[in-house]
Amino acid sequence: MARYTGSKCRLCRREGTKLFLKGERCMSTKCAVERRQYPPGEHGQRRSRRPTEYGLQLREKQKVKRIYGVLEKPFRRYFDKASRQKGVTGENLLRLLELRLDNVVHRAGMAPSRDTARQLITHRHFTVNGRIVNVPSYSLRTGDVVAARDSIKEVVKANLDRRGSDALSWLQVSPDQLSVTLAEVPSRESIPIPIQEQLIVELYSK
Ligand code: SF4
Repeated sequence: MARYTGSKCRLCRREGTKLFLKGERCMSTKCAVERRQYPPGEHGQRRSRRPTEYGLQLREKQKVKRIYGVLEKPFRRYFDKASRQKGVTGENLLRLLELRLDNVVHRAGMAPSRDTARQLITHRHFTVNGRIVNVPSYSLRTGDVVAARDSIKEVVKANLDRRGSDALSWLQVSPDQLSVTLAEVPSRESIPIPIQEQLIVELYSK
């Protein structure tokens, strides 16, 4: 299972926006985007050219991939699946990504970032409908219940306490049971991600 292991903050600086890849640090004054507001690398402080149409589409795709921690090949597979589904392809794509197990664990507040969620899942600390699932990309369905195992309950409880009650409407979080239920498949409006997904569709449709 391949994954990006380089600097997370570098990715945010490349996109010129906060992608919230590091949990609490992203909310602090230590955030690299706030401290160095220019792209990474030797030529980062040079005057940048006006982006082309292709450049805008590419950056939008990279942003989504980086937010969800998905590499190019699996991302392309998500796109192909989304384009075969009924409805708007861009929205289908975001929906498929939101239904990943690592994303739901993070969105519910059980892990401070998707990366942490991913690690906890691969270490077999979560169950889906009572069965251990160690695949971060596992796609959830309506009614599925994701629960933390005893091995991780102290950590998850602390994360939930810190996070408060700002979980999304399509997720029913139970702080007592340390579990989250997927109440419904999210609509585009209930996915809080500032992305123009249409640009990704245009990029892949060339
Ligand atoms: Fe991005 Fe978070 Fe690093 Fe800021 S602290 S640059 S939001 S990963």
